[in-house]
Amino acid sequence: MSLSHIPRLSLCHLPTPLQRLDRLSKTLGGPTLWIKRDDCTGLGLGGNKVRKLEYLVADAIAHGATRLITAGPLQSNHCRQTAAAAARAGLECELVIDDRLQDADHAYRTNGNILLDRLFGAILRVLPGGTPAEAALEQAAQEVRAAGGVPYTIPVGASAPLGALGYVNATLELHTQAHEAGVQFDHLVHASGSTGTQAGLLAGHALLRSRTVVHGVNILGEHEPVRERAYELAQQTLSLIGHPASLVRDQDVIVHNDQVGPGFGKPTPGMLEAVELLGRQEAILLDPVHTGKAMAGLIAMVRQKRFQASDNVLFIHTGGQPSLFAYAALWSTEPVAYRQAAL
Ligand SMILES: *Cc1c(COP(=O)(O)O)cnc(C)c1O
Repeated sequence: MSLSHIPRLSLCHLPTPLQRLDRLSKTLGGPTLWIKRDDCTGLGLGGNKVRKLEYLVADAIAHGATRLITAGPLQSNHCRQTAAAAARAGLECELVIDDRLQDADHAYRTNGNILLDRLFGAILRVLPGGTPAEAALEQAAQEVRAAGGVPYTIPVGASAPLGALGYVNATLELHTQAHEAGVQFDHLVHASGSTGTQAGLLAGHALLRSRTVVHGVNILGEHEPVRERAYELAQQTLSLIGHPASLVRDQDVIVHNDQVGPGFGKPTPGMLEAVELLGRQEAILLDPVHTGKAMAGLIAMVRQKRFQASDNVLFIHTGGQPSLFAYAALWSTEPVAYRQAAL
């Protein structure tokens, strides 16, 4: 199977490393844990969106676009990676920012991703929280057209079928690396939000007839239809490249809803433990919004004995570290003391 006929702009440092987490595996006393470092995709501090943007930005260029437009919250990793991709491709970038956290502190408003958006030269359109993204994106696109430009709108999280191809590709890359390392993964765990990552992984694993169980950990909200969206997008992704949508089966789509806590971007004890544990045992930085909660899900599954001791379990690090600096207040005192005092 090959995706080489689909236009793709090279933006990532590939392949990203595949590493064993020996110290963490020993501490947790469960299966052998591995990590795929998609936080190291390179462009603009990296992350999972760059893989998707390789296809979407190539499509934008093919359509003669002059400006990429997308949307997200103030600390959106997706917005930051889109701004970086635009800078690299010589396109303008406009970000429609949903300012939804009214009680956010100074670091959240000025540091991390939003600081990098500015450095990459993005035009910021900050709207009050709750403004529907669709209407705001359409408005921004119309203004570009009226000024004689060509807008290219990228959906939230770059989670269109074309974007999800980035994770079909990542699955092929992983398959080669696993083969070279002589390992077969029994389970794969990752953070799932706008679901392009999970959809691409599901489509890729279906195409390879892989037996690896893919676990998405919902970081968006307990009542968000993450599972339904991942399933639908996986089917659309397969159709886009000429394969039967039915290759992905209902039972393949697994989403865990037990790590969201109070809501998107809100800290949980499990997230704090996961971020601290990975820092101290592996010198790997997780983020408070996505990968911290996804790793908390993996740790919970180890403790619930959901894996066998002989299993190989892979965590996909989807990036997000810049937001650590926006959430600095979480670690401004001794972490353990914070957990006891505030949670
Ligand atoms: C966007 C993002 C995710 C979720 O990926 P989706 O494809 O939107 O489901 C996970 N982790 C990080 C760090 C992200 O920025």
